[in-house]
Amino acid sequence: MLKNIKKILLISALIGVSFFCGAISLFAAANVYTIIIDPAHGGTDTGVKITDKINEKDITLAIARELQKELSRESNIKVILTRDSDTDISAEKLTQIVRDNKPDFFISIHINKGFGKYASGFELYYPGFGKDTVGGKKEIKNLSNERINRINKSVRMSQLIQRNLDSIFERKGRGLREADTPQMEGLSVPALTVEIGFASNSDDRKKILSQKTQKEIAQALAKSIKSFYR
Ligand SMILES: [Zn+2]
Repeated sequence: MLKNIKKILLISALIGVSFFCGAISLFAAANVYTIIIDPAHGGTDTGVKITDKINEKDITLAIARELQKELSRESNIKVILTRDSDTDISAEKLTQIVRDNKPDFFISIHINKGFGKYASGFELYYPGFGKDTVGGKKEIKNLSNERINRINKSVRMSQLIQRNLDSIFERKGRGLREADTPQMEGLSVPALTVEIGFASNSDDRKKILSQKTQKEIAQALAKSIKSFYR
């Protein structure tokens, strides 16, 4: 009898311990956020030309790597780069990476160009309500709660990045914009695109090419991501 009681006690203790461990791992797993950083373009897709030798694809990769380094010390953030070398990433592959990893956030990094040589500053694009149009009107009523939640997260992260990038780039009336960019279309995760400065503006170009500024941009992005998940 006593033997049986001992057995029962031992079994219940084991169940208790395994339940406790399970709860701990569940707790830990729930607190790690996966962020996919997309250094836009790559390989044969050079993006915009910045100098004779340097293209958008080189700068986006440099910033993405710095950003990954900045976030590597964070135990609650896991960073995945869509590419870590000079390779082509097709739209299909990009979508596959997002589907496979189910990230908490997708951030695509670009360099802007155009609108004359005076256009400068950063821009942030977040997916909005534009896709759900009925007869040309925005149909917000039919959006699922999941989608509204996703858009809210994208807006909130964009606002944080805008605030933190402001000290590096003067916005000059640019900044937040609601629009699905091709990289974000069809991704069912919170997403945003950062267009970091204009290659067509000489001041912006100098900043974009400076390793010091690239690091500062990465730090501003990292600071925003960290405070979002704090
Ligand atoms: Zn681009």
